[in-house]
Parts: sequence; structure tokens; C-alpha cells
Amino acid sequence: MNMKGRIETIQNRIAIAAKRSHRDPADITLIAVTKTHPATLIDTALAAGLRRIGENKIQEAEDKLPLLTQPWDEFHFIGHLQSNKIKKLMPLKPALIHSIDRFSTAQKLSQWCTAHQRHQDILLQVNTSGEVSKFGCHPDELPQLCKDVAALPNLHIQGLMTIGIFSDDETAVRNCFILLRNLRDAIQQNPPAGVKMQHLSMGMTNDFEIAIEEGATLVRIGSGLFGSRTYT
Ligand SMILES: *Cc1c(COP(=O)(O)O)cnc(C)c1O
Repeated sequence: MNMKGRIETIQNRIAIAAKRSHRDPADITLIAVTKTHPATLIDTALAAGLRRIGENKIQEAEDKLPLLTQPWDEFHFIGHLQSNKIKKLMPLKPALIHSIDRFSTAQKLSQWCTAHQRHQDILLQVNTSGEVSKFGCHPDELPQLCKDVAALPNLHIQGLMTIGIFSDDETAVRNCFILLRNLRDAIQQNPPAGVKMQHLSMGMTNDFEIAIEEGATLVRIGSGLFGSRTYT
């Protein structure tokens, strides 16, 4: 299948999952995860209609984004953010950083933004699976993290992000997404000043339909669009 066909297939699956759960497909935004793929392939995808691209490594994004010849709407940073990489990430103008999971990083990001008169939309990443290999704050720590980060200047919390458990057990995967939604709902009852909970970034190639059924507004899809990745 060509790129246009793959994009249409994913968009149809998003629409079907949305309708099944009585949601408007327009409320779900597809982020094309382009990690490991060359700029030429990303250009093909942009030309075929994708508008938002996600990368998880700053060096790779820094290398590839300037090579793109097709216009795009948004670059999303979805990987783990180390404090010492903030100054490399920010010139790439991420529309949204999905992966803030500790106060110290948020504080440094806020300081950078203040010094450069920039504002940055962020999501707080939660480890909903309990897997030690996954980044994200512990669910119990989220309310305090949210409060603390909300008080920092020039950062704007827009919602939450998680990576579902890597498992064939659909219930276990679904429970990760339900947990994220419940955490969102709890914050929404009494949100700290300036906090918006408009986004749940959850769902990848193998589980995005479940994530949509549980309320995802941003789905991050890589291999479903670009085929499997080879790491070098
Ligand atoms: C790689 C990656 C994805 C996309 O994964 P696929 O299974 O290829 O769809 C989504 N989110 C994050 C954070 C990733 O690192």
C-alpha cells in the first residue's frame, strides 16, 4: 500500500473507533511518529496529507527537521526530556512536549522559556503500567506534580500522556488508559490555576483503538504508517 493508502487506513480506523464510542472523529488528532525514518519518507507522508510529526530523540529531530522540504503544522516531542537537552530542543519549536514527568525538568524548561520570552504547552507523562522501564510519574504523585508545575511561569499544562502496557492482554492495556482518564477527571474537578485538561495523549499502533474508546484526543502512530523500524 502506498503512503496515502496507509494514512487513509489509519484515519478510517480512528473514525470507526470514535464512532463506536460515540465520539466525534474530529476530536482525535493523529500524530505521525517519524522516529528512525529518513527525511525523504517524512516528506512523502507530509505530501500525502500528514500535518503533525512526533520524534522522541532531540538529536534526531535536530538532524532531520531542517531537511524536510514539505510544510508541516506541528512538531511534537514525545520522548524523555533531559534537562541538559532543553536548549537543543527549544529551537525546534515543539508545538507540544508530551513527556514532562518531574519537577526539576519542568523548572529548567520554565527558566529557559522565561529567559527567551517563549511559552510552551506541555503534557504530564504518567507511568500507568507500573513497568519499571517506562518513564512517567507515579499516578499517586501526579496531583502534586501538576500543582507544582502549574505554578511555574511560561509553561501551560494541556493534559496528560501515557504509554500503555506492552501486552496482549487487552484488559491490561485498557486499564492503563482508564487510569489516565480517571487521573485527568480528578484534576479537572479542581484544577490548579492555568491548567487545562483538554488532551489525553495515549494510543500507539497496537492499541490506539482501545485508547480512543477510553478518551484519547492525541494518538501517536509510527509503525502503522511507516512500517516497522530498524534501529542501528
Ligand atoms: C515510538 C513511539 C510511538 C509510536 O509507536 P508505534 O508502535 O510505532 O506506533 C508512540 N509514542 C512514543 C512515546 C514512542 O516513542
